[in-house]
Parts: sequence; C-alpha cells; structure tokens
Amino acid sequence: MTPVQQPPAIGSLLARRTGWGRSDAVSRILAAAAAPGVLSMAGGIPAPDSFPVARLAEATDRLFAGSAGSGGSAVRALQYAPTDGIAPLRELIAARASATGSTVGPDRVMVTAGSQQGLDLVAQTLIDEGDEVALDDPSYLGAVQVFRRAGARLLPVPGDAEGMRTDVLEQRLLAGARPKLVYVVPHFHNPTGAVLSEERRRHLAALAERFGFVIVEDDPYGDLAFEGGRLPSTDVHSGRVVRLMSLSKTVCPGLRVAGLVAPAELIGELVAAKQCGDLQTNTFGQYLLADLLGDPEFLPTHLAGLRTLYGGRARAMETLLREQLPWLDFERPRGGLFFWCRLTDPRVGSDALYAHALAQGVAIVPGTPFCIDEDGSRVLRLSFASLDGAQRREGVSRLAAAWEKALADGV
Ligand code: PMP
Repeated sequence: MTPVQQPPAIGSLLARRTGWGRSDAVSRILAAAAAPGVLSMAGGIPAPDSFPVARLAEATDRLFAGSAGSGGSAVRALQYAPTDGIAPLRELIAARASATGSTVGPDRVMVTAGSQQGLDLVAQTLIDEGDEVALDDPSYLGAVQVFRRAGARLLPVPGDAEGMRTDVLEQRLLAGARPKLVYVVPHFHNPTGAVLSEERRRHLAALAERFGFVIVEDDPYGDLAFEGGRLPSTDVHSGRVVRLMSLSKTVCPGLRVAGLVAPAELIGELVAAKQCGDLQTNTFGQYLLADLLGDPEFLPTHLAGLRTLYGGRARAMETLLREQLPWLDFERPRGGLFFWCRLTDPRVGSDALYAHALAQGVAIVPGTPFCIDEDGSRVLRLSFASLDGAQRREGVSRLAAAWEKALADGV
C-alpha cells in the first residue's frame, strides 16, 4: 500500500453534518448558569425538591430484595433488554398515551433515552439532506439542532398565544412547501409557553392528512398545567403523528427514560435506528419507572403536587416581576416552567441584559438562540422552576440591578 504523503489533518476528516447543527450558545449559557454563586433562571431544569426520591428508593429496594438468583428482578433490571423497551413499561406508556390521545397498543410504543433521543431517531429516520422541516419560530433549541444536523432545511412558522399559526403553514404548503415533518410542542411551549389550541390541532391534523407530512408532538410539559387542563393529542384527528412523551419534567430527567408512540409504518424503522445508537435504554431505569407508573396512586398524586409547586412559584415570580421589573412584558404562564418576556424599553436589548445579569450573578436566556427568522434581540426566557422563595427574590433584585447597570453603561 502506498503511504499517503501528507496525511490529512484530523479536523478535515469530519463528516459534513458535524458542522450543521452546532450551536455553542446553549453550552455557554448553561455553563455560565452553573458557575458558583450564580442564581439560574436559565435552564429548563425541574425543581430538585420535586423528585420522588423516597418513592424511587422504595422501588429500588423492591427490585433488589432477595432476588439475586437468575430470573430474579434484580438480575432482570441489570441485564440487556429489548431495543424497544421492557414490556411492562411499554404497556404503561401505551395506557398513558391512550388516556391523552387516541387508543394505542404497546406495539406502537418504544422507550427512548429521553425525548431528545426520540427527536434524533425521528430525524434520522425521515430526513435526508435538503428535506424541509416546519417548526415554530422561536422553537426548542434541542430540536433545531437535531433537525439542522440531519441536513434539514428549516421552515419557520410564526406563532401566537394559541401556538403555531397553522393558517401561515397552510399558505406555505399551498405555495409549494413540502415539509416531511412538522414539529410542535403542544402544551406550554418551550420557550413561548403557548398552548396549541384545539382548533389549530384539528387544522394541523387536517393539513397532515392532506399534504402527507408527519406531525411530531413533543410534549414534556402537558402534565404541568396549573391553569386549565391538557388538550387531546393531534393523533385523535390524524394517524400521521409521532408522540414524544418525556418523563423528565414529571418524574426526573436523570434516568433518561421517555416514551415514544409512532404510526405502525414508522415504529420498526425507529427501533432499528435506536439499535444502531445504543441497543436499548438503560434497563434499571425502565424497571424503576415501570414500578412508579404501575402504581395507580403515584402519578395522580405526584402530578397534583407538581402543579401546586410550580403554580405557586409562577405566581410568586409574576408578582416580583411586575413589581420590580416594569420594563418586562409577558403573558402569565398557564403551565410549564417558563416566562417568555419582551423588553419594552428600546434602550436595552436581551443580549446586553444577559451579560449584565450574569455579572450580577443571575442567569437568563436571551431570545436569539431560540429564534430562526424572528428577531430575538428583545425577548428572553426566565425559568421560575428551580429557585426557592429567597433565591427568587434575590434573583429578581439582581436582574433589576443588571438593568440599571445596563442603562448606566448605555447598552
Ligand atoms: N423537548 C422539549 C420541548 C424540551 O424542553 C426538552 C427538555 N428541556 C426536551 C424535549 C428533552 O427532554 P428529555 O429530557 O426527555 O430528553
């Protein structure tokens, strides 16, 4: 074999896709938010005091109790498992999906390592380079990164308090756009907090049927409504829906266990894609969640507790923001974890406020990373979820100080 004279630099070997979805914005913002002494209103991080620690410890004890022998529950929880997930958990996810949308059996369910993996598997399975993906503008950044890295051309669709403007989507479709998939966060959208209205769900489903795209419904916040309830999935109106059912915000994110429901034509391909990536989701976490979700008492009680906790934190935050930050305008969130705010004073933009806020020891997320075509320079996202009362008061007064400093510095 003839040796290569000038071996290529390692950097030149990278696949083209490595350059497509890359955004340092989130890593930078989250790293800054994690710095010592910084109060974080930045990440979509659930309240640590909401995790069902005692209940998980009980489930762990039960799994390991007296069953070291082959066939015992401990051994099952530590062994390889099927790529699509352990049967009891798939059945429980199917039941949960059926209670919040159309009836599905476990054959259309798979367990993924978080909904983030579900998004990636959907993109890998449906998107070739140059295919169109329609999505809200602004959108969840993790989804934007996945679709970009899959080579998609993004088709941003504006939204309002009722979620995606499906009338605008329809105009684009009539003008010739042919997205393979349309991505929505149907409840308490990240970052805008919007809930996709019933009328728009029907419209979106009708468009999916007419133009032949797949709806990807990514719904981590649907169970966190503290005003009103959740609306049925669009899958009651169309068979072209993939549902991503994260458990990160309702149980805990660290186990990396989520549900995915897909049309029969897609589920096998999604499972094949997952098999290439990680063979299966961690078995132990699946058994723990099967124990919790299989307990008829657990989820209703736990969700009621979360709604009370987050509803209380949102109201307390609203009061502080209205009292101390009159230059912020926002709709009161009806669920989820975020305030999506507009800066009403033209003298300070969200990037400058972000930098000054960090200098004062409070982290926020400026609007730009979420926005595709929209102007993100005057919007920002604040999470109310993980700070307790004293931290929240301190965080808001640091934001007020950051504003004064930004004004004084003339940026
Ligand atoms: N989708 C949205 C809209 C999210 O906000 C998040 C987490 N912040 C995810 C997906 C990822 O969820 P998971 O932890 O289940 O991967």
